[in-house]
Amino acid sequence: MKLVATRNKGAKDILPADIHKWRTVEQVAADIAECYGFKEIRIPTFEKTELFVRSVGETTDVVQKEMFTVTGTESSFTLRPEGTAGVIRALLQNGLMNEAAPQKLFYFVNCFRHENVQKGRLWEFHQFGAEMAGSHSPAADAEVICFAGDILKGLGLQNISLHINSIGCPKCREEYYKVLREFLSPNREKLCGTCQSRFEKNPMRILDCKSDICKGIAEGAPLITDYLCDECREHFKRLCGILDEMGVEYVIDPKIVRGLDYYTKTVFEFISDDIGAQGTICGGGRYDGLIEEIGGAPTPALGFAMGLERVIMAMESQGVEFMPEPGCDIYIASMGENAQGQAMKLIRELREAGHRAQGDVMGRELRGQLKYADKIGAAYSAVIGDSELESGKVTLKNMKSGEKTELPLLPLADFVDKFTDISMADMFDED
Ligand code: ATP
Ligand code: MG
Repeated sequence: MKLVATRNKGAKDILPADIHKWRTVEQVAADIAECYGFKEIRIPTFEKTELFVRSVGETTDVVQKEMFTVTGTESSFTLRPEGTAGVIRALLQNGLMNEAAPQKLFYFVNCFRHENVQKGRLWEFHQFGAEMAGSHSPAADAEVICFAGDILKGLGLQNISLHINSIGCPKCREEYYKVLREFLSPNREKLCGTCQSRFEKNPMRILDCKSDICKGIAEGAPLITDYLCDECREHFKRLCGILDEMGVEYVIDPKIVRGLDYYTKTVFEFISDDIGAQGTICGGGRYDGLIEEIGGAPTPALGFAMGLERVIMAMESQGVEFMPEPGCDIYIASMGENAQGQAMKLIRELREAGHRAQGDVMGRELRGQLKYADKIGAAYSAVIGDSELESGKVTLKNMKSGEKTELPLLPLADFVDKFTDISMADMFDED
């Protein structure tokens, strides 16, 4: 039987027509990262399963239901469901914490989660993320939040609201878990299976369950913010104070608990109303216990991750401008074998001078070549045939306006020089 190759519904092809959108986001995020002094790190796509179980947390949806895991003879490996665990593993394994503190890293990663495919929710998706390790100070929280916010602003997004909360530390949670269990216990049997298993170990996770029944039961539950210890309360108050001084707008949202277990103290989300139910574009927070949990010296840290599919969806829905699609500055058509060789030489010289130049590799007739030049949106075209070779002149045509300019063809270097001192950008501006 003949194979008809199809892609899985949980993954997406990113086609050439959309690449400029991704490049826009990548460029803006990397530029702003540089302003903030974050350096890029690239890590492997998979890690030992244990790393994610320990860091993301045993009672999270990600670990309980969503991981793509390959079990080998010696070890079990998992395609990363998020970037933080791997980045922190790399930070420790490579001794980066011995360098200046804080360590500030950013990354672009593809992530894998086996969850219900819907708008804004895929099996393979992409994140831009950043992590800062080494600082306890609320100033670090403010800086990381502003970094994420500046990227969204830099991309031209509007109406994105910043929600912040503090989910305290293990000390605050002792008391909070008790009252939360008391609140939930009359309905314990009605909770979904996963949440029943979370009831003892991590009842706060129930507040992040996606099931409508669990959401209903959790309605009106006591809030962690009422149970913060002095240190956590003070930390949150100072963070709010700094954000106020910086003029950053935010909403305190005591309902944010985040989907990953490693968070402590500050958590935050950037939410858009323009992309449907999965409106959280970026999520992050502090994770002061994680580094120690995976074998490092106790080190406070925090970070965020932005879902790039959701960022691009929001940009599209708001009609934000992307950087232009890559184009063609000049197409050199040729007629006859002699001219073809000269055209290819000329095209190469133009490329060396930094121009986006193309010519015929299909063996097309002249008409077909010019039709192709039009299709690919070439800004200029020129035709080289025997008569041009003889006269040493070539006519450059502005494909949009039809305006023609005669230029010397030989020596070729002069021709190239002619181009390089008339910048293409200037030429575009004229029409
Ligand atoms: P959600 O509540 O939407 O499931 P989450 O809390 O699981 O999000 P994080 O683990 O914080 O998300 O990931 C950070 C960001 O990555 C999210 O805010 C979102 O933009 C994006 N993201 C997470 N899961 C997916 C997915 N399955 N498909 C596409 N983007 C995703
Ligand atoms: Mg999720």
